[in-house]
Amino acid sequence: MSVMRSILLAASQNGWLRERAARYKFVRRSVSRFMPGEEIEDALRAAQALTAKRIGSVFTHLGENIRDAREAEDVTQHYRMVLGKIRSAGLATEISVKLTQLGLDQSVDLCTQNVRRIVQQESSEKTVWIDMEASFYVDATLEVYRRILVEFPHTGVCLQAYLFRTKKDLQALLPLKPSVRLVKGAYKESPEIAYPIKKDVDENYFSLGQEMLRAQREGEMKRVAFGTHDAVMIRRLAEFTAKEGMPKHALEIQMLYGIQRAEQERLAVEGYRSAVLVAYGHFWYPWFVRRLAERPANLWFLAKNVFAR
Ligand SMILES: Cc1cc2nc3c(=O)[nH]c(=O)nc-3n(C[C@H](O)[C@H](O)[C@H](O)COP(=O)(O)OP(=O)(O)OC[C@H]3O[C@@H](n4cnc5c(N)ncnc54)[C@H](O)[C@@H]3O)c2cc1C
Repeated sequence: MSVMRSILLAASQNGWLRERAARYKFVRRSVSRFMPGEEIEDALRAAQALTAKRIGSVFTHLGENIRDAREAEDVTQHYRMVLGKIRSAGLATEISVKLTQLGLDQSVDLCTQNVRRIVQQESSEKTVWIDMEASFYVDATLEVYRRILVEFPHTGVCLQAYLFRTKKDLQALLPLKPSVRLVKGAYKESPEIAYPIKKDVDENYFSLGQEMLRAQREGEMKRVAFGTHDAVMIRRLAEFTAKEGMPKHALEIQMLYGIQRAEQERLAVEGYRSAVLVAYGHFWYPWFVRRLAERPANLWFLAKNVFAR
């Protein structure tokens, strides 16, 4: 892991920096590159603009590790309200939730109950996605996902290619016909449990990706999505899809709002499924710093905003 990435990932968990960052205009200006605004209305406007370009959208309300059951209840109510707004706006937008916002630190039972109440509210035509957080939460997240999936087939979970365990986790989920969004992984993990070298993460990503696309074709997976901006990886996955005789729409690429916009549009125009994860909310600091860690060149962007008017 590069030194800069390690420093930024450590900074993403620093409460002192979090409190100060929001006070600086140049930080807020930089954040606006990655999110359309802090309010749900900002996200809805962004989804409408994406729909016009045949790009799907997935909303996520920023925040992690709430303190008690009451806060988990507020987040649950928030997502239920958001599903209503999406429906009223006639959008095909889906949602992606973080389990530590829904009570995972309090108890698996409480969290499962909250996720259930959200999923019940969603149409079975769409998927409710569950994010994957730091490795400490993987077992509990998969436990909640399994419990929900047996009741509601229209739920999906994120798996991270940087973890050694992910191949086994995927195999273990297959009998339940899961939906999975594959990502490389955004947290600071030790070399005992995660590939420390990017090239190895990429190879594992491609290997898991091929397995998932085949499983989707065989009907062993309900839905497969790839959360990545890696143009080389997307090309390799597209070539694999074509070689295996799968239609273009079998390949779904999800990217983050504001990143690789031209590529998002190209994929949609060419007939692949293209979607964008739209984040909104006030608690953006750790999320934003993880975006800087993914591409330290983004720090230049932050620096330029110091001088912007
Ligand atoms: C839809 C979606 C959902 C996600 N959900 C989760 C999750 O639940 N759990 C989790 O751990 N991680 C999640 N992630 C983050 C993911 O794990 C990676 O950290 C992130 O996507 C960067 O990896 P990459 O695959 O884009 O490829 P990389 O190989 O890191 O990057 C490839 C290229 O993409 C571009 N790029 C990548 N990141 C950025 C950036 N921040 N800013 C500007 N350009 C960039 C650059 O051009 C870079 O060269 C999600 C990502 C996406 C897109």
